[in-house]
Amino acid sequence: MQEEIKTLLKEQGFTPTKKRLAILDVIFKIQPASVNQIINSLPEIDRATVYRTIDLFIDLNIAKKVYTGFKYRIELGDSFQEHHHHLTCLRCKTVMDVQTPEIEFAIDQTTKNNGFRPMRHDLEIIGYCANCS
Ligand SMILES: [Zn+2]
Ligand SMILES: [Zn+2]
Repeated sequence: MQEEIKTLLKEQGFTPTKKRLAILDVIFKIQPASVNQIINSLPEIDRATVYRTIDLFIDLNIAKKVYTGFKYRIELGDSFQEHHHHLTCLRCKTVMDVQTPEIEFAIDQTTKNNGFRPMRHDLEIIGYCANCS
């Protein structure tokens, strides 16, 4: 997977620098990761570079933003991991990945019925996890 992303960077004219690959590694390990988590995991890389690299990854669809309330986290784009949604706990801030085949089916039907070609969708489910409720 990392190799695929390296190739994609090169094809788009970007060098897979050590810093870019280090940031990618963190996203792989702790996705969905907040920007602060990424910054704190890589004290040797300055904040501006982290922000710029994340923007680049988003432009190239390597990564995407996942919104939780007013904040967002970063995770791999849909081409690099299986499509899923998140359950976010308001209390302990845990973010659980969940597969939602019924929802995907409903979106598929709704877009088809309206002659619409969907490119992406977001779904935010916030509440309390089993430990916190
Ligand atoms: Zn919780
Ligand atoms: Zn979905």
